[in-house]
Amino acid sequence: MSDLYAGISNTLNALGVKLEEKEVAEVAKQCKSDGSSLMLTEKLLSMALDRKRERTVATLRKFSRIPVHKRLDTFDFSFQPSIDEQQIRRLATIGFIHAGENIILIGDPGCGKSHIAISLAEECLDHGMRAYYITMSDLALKLSDAKRDNRLKRVMASLMRPDCLVIDELGYDHLDIDASELVFKLISARYERKSIIITSNYPISRWNEVFGSDALTQVIADRLVHHAEVIRITGKSYRLKGRI
Ligand code: ADP
Ligand code: MG
Repeated sequence: MSDLYAGISNTLNALGVKLEEKEVAEVAKQCKSDGSSLMLTEKLLSMALDRKRERTVATLRKFSRIPVHKRLDTFDFSFQPSIDEQQIRRLATIGFIHAGENIILIGDPGCGKSHIAISLAEECLDHGMRAYYITMSDLALKLSDAKRDNRLKRVMASLMRPDCLVIDELGYDHLDIDASELVFKLISARYERKSIIITSNYPISRWNEVFGSDALTQVIADRLVHHAEVIRITGKSYRLKGRI
């Protein structure tokens, strides 16, 4: 019986109701509950907890702004042998998020950078953690607009909240210096605290073309790379699979 009392007490705690094992035992005694009614109670409470967690994850998924949902189980690793499948599967256990580490995915268009970045963010959501997706161009615009409208503090705070921030497509647009400085501010604020997954079709050595300043590029890359796994994908485009 004591296992059932403990189970009920633990599930109630996870639901946000503090009720100790001995209090559960007391109620069970008052109601002259037998094993089967306690089992029913435990089962119903764990179903309630599962439903609550599902709702939380669905809400987090909606707020993540992930444009197209992608999962690792639809990623064909045999098509892209330059990717170390074991490394990606290890990252999918989201230890890097707990450690506040970054992931940098570099490769030509269509090689699967966004797919992997989004899949890892989805794993984070599955664990009830916050993820947020934004392209580098939209991030630069969001920060520049916020600064112009005196909302920078609020927008920065909102970009600090996600446990995993996916910044996709570094290199598609070149940023002006003011925007690059704001991006640096955000990357510095998240440094060693919260993870960033960044994808780029440019090698890090060419990021100065994106940020428009060697000095800024150096400090941005420095902070991003310090605690990061850099994954270089050298394969062909999946979009062109079977077409050429
Ligand atoms: P990138 O961001 O590197 O340009 P994407 O991740 O957007 O490329 O990939 C382009 C498309 O091809 C997406 O629909 C993605 O899901 C798919 N894709 C890419 N690589 C693979 C792969 N190895 N297995 C399955 N689908 C893939
Ligand atoms: Mg992409």
